[in-house]
Amino acid sequence: MRSRFSAFVVKDADYLLETWHPETRPAELDLSGSPEWVSLQILSSSAGVDTGRVHFRAVYRAGGGWGYLEERSDFSKENGRWFYREGETREGVLKPGRNDPCPCGSGRKFKACCL
Ligand SMILES: [Zn+2]
Repeated sequence: MRSRFSAFVVKDADYLLETWHPETRPAELDLSGSPEWVSLQILSSSAGVDTGRVHFRAVYRAGGGWGYLEERSDFSKENGRWFYREGETREGVLKPGRNDPCPCGSGRKFKACCL
């Protein structure tokens, strides 16, 4: 999961396709229009023997503001490897206050970081 997030950050479409289950994998993946991802938060995760589910929130910078993508992703394990199958997503806008934690994930207050 984290490795897929890292692949989105560096726009590594090959890795994303390799870790995508063949049944749901798109023929190709164009990441040229994807936003600048800055942080990932795993909200919950659970894994059985051969299926897993991850609920995460990823934050991106867009223009002068911030947005987020939240997804509940389903994974399945085949031949000892995890594959992404599909997810339910929702997106929104973040409006951090001056004293809120910075959305970039630095751990500092917004006013002392990216404001
Ligand atoms: Zn920051």
